[in-house]
Amino acid sequence: MNIFDIKHSNRKKIYFYMREHIRATRQQISFDLHLSVPTVTQNLEYLAQNGLLQSEVTVDGRGGGRNPTTYTYIPDAKISIGVDITRHHLKLIAIDLDGNVIKYIYRRCLYERTEEYLMLLGREVDHLVALAGIESKRVLGVSIAVPGIVNSHRGIVVDGRVIDNTGMTYKDFGKYVRYPSRLMHDSDASGFSEIWNSPSIHNAFYISLCNSVGGSVFIDDKVYDGDGLFSGEIGHLILHPNGLSCYCGQKGCMDPYCNAELLANHADGELHLFFDRLEKGDKNLVKIWDDYMNNLASSIISARMLFGCPIIIGGYVGAFIKPYMTKIWQKIDKKSPFGEKSEYYVLPCKNKTESVATGAALYYIQDFLNEAMVFDDAKHKKA
Ligand SMILES: [Zn+2]
Repeated sequence: MNIFDIKHSNRKKIYFYMREHIRATRQQISFDLHLSVPTVTQNLEYLAQNGLLQSEVTVDGRGGGRNPTTYTYIPDAKISIGVDITRHHLKLIAIDLDGNVIKYIYRRCLYERTEEYLMLLGREVDHLVALAGIESKRVLGVSIAVPGIVNSHRGIVVDGRVIDNTGMTYKDFGKYVRYPSRLMHDSDASGFSEIWNSPSIHNAFYISLCNSVGGSVFIDDKVYDGDGLFSGEIGHLILHPNGLSCYCGQKGCMDPYCNAELLANHADGELHLFFDRLEKGDKNLVKIWDDYMNNLASSIISARMLFGCPIIIGGYVGAFIKPYMTKIWQKIDKKSPFGEKSEYYVLPCKNKTESVATGAALYYIQDFLNEAMVFDDAKHKKA
C-alpha cells in the first residue's frame, strides 16, 4: 500500500462511517476508527469542501473552550440516473447515494432506431434532472440498460435481436445526454439491484422473467459475463427438444415457455390481469400457470446444478411470484437430484418495481463509492 492508497483508504473509512452514522464529530470518528484527529480533520474538511458532508459548529452554551463541529452525511450529494429501454417503454429513475428513488419518469413509447428517439432520450434525462431539482454537477452519470447482449466494457450491443439495437454503442444512446453514460444488459442491471439489496448474497443466479427471458450470474458481487458475454442466458437453455420456436433460432428454449408475454397474452396483454384472474380461480389460467411453473422449476434445477448458488426469480413475473413460492419449491424439490430444500436457495426478487432502471443507476453509485472521494483525480471522469 503506497501513501496514496493509505490516504484514500482512510478517506473511504471516514466517509463510510459517516454514511452509517449520519452525524458525528471528529473526536467520535477518531476514537471509533482509531485514526488521529488531524487525519480525521483533514479528510472531513476535504469531504465537506466537495459537498459530500455538511459541517456545523455546535454551540454548547457553556462557554469557554472550542465548540465541536458536527458533520452530517448528505445522501443526495450525488445522484445517478438509470434508464430502462424496452420495446414499448422508456423509464428513467434518479437515485441518491443510498439507492433511494428521488424521481421517476415513465413513458409509453415505441423504441425506434432513429435520431428522434435518441433526442427524446436526451430530453427526458434533462426533464428528470429538472424534476429532481438537482444541479447538473451532482449527476454522476446515466446508465442505460437495454435488451440484448451487451459488451459493457466497450459499451456496445453485440446482439440486439430483441429490439433491433445490434451495434449501437453508449455514445449512440448518449448522443443527446449531457452526462457521462454507459450501456448495460437489462438483466445484469436488475440482478445487480437484488445483489445491492441483499448484503448477505455475493454469488447468485438471477432469472429475469420479462417479455424475453434473461439471466445474469454474479460472483463476488460482480457480473460474470463469460467469454461470449452470454453467460447466464438461461432463456436459451433447451427445455423441450424440438419444442416451440425461439427467436434465437433454436427450438424448445426456455424463453417461449417462460416469458412474461406468454402469460399476459392470456389476459388482454396485461400481466397484472393474468394474476388477478388466476387468483379468482380462472380454470384455464390455473392450467397455464401450472405448466409455466413446471417449466420454471426445471430451469431453476439446471441453474442450481451448474452454479450451486442462490437463484433469484425476478423480472415482470418475479414481481408477482411471492405467493406462489411454496408451489414452486415443491415442484423443484420433487425433481431435484440432490434432495436439497429449495426454499433455502430459490428466492423471490425483493425489488418489484423498476429494478432494471434502479439497478442500472446503482452502477454509478457503486463506482462512486469505490473510487469516490477522489475528485482531484482524472480517474473519476469517464472517457
Ligand atoms: Zn432461444
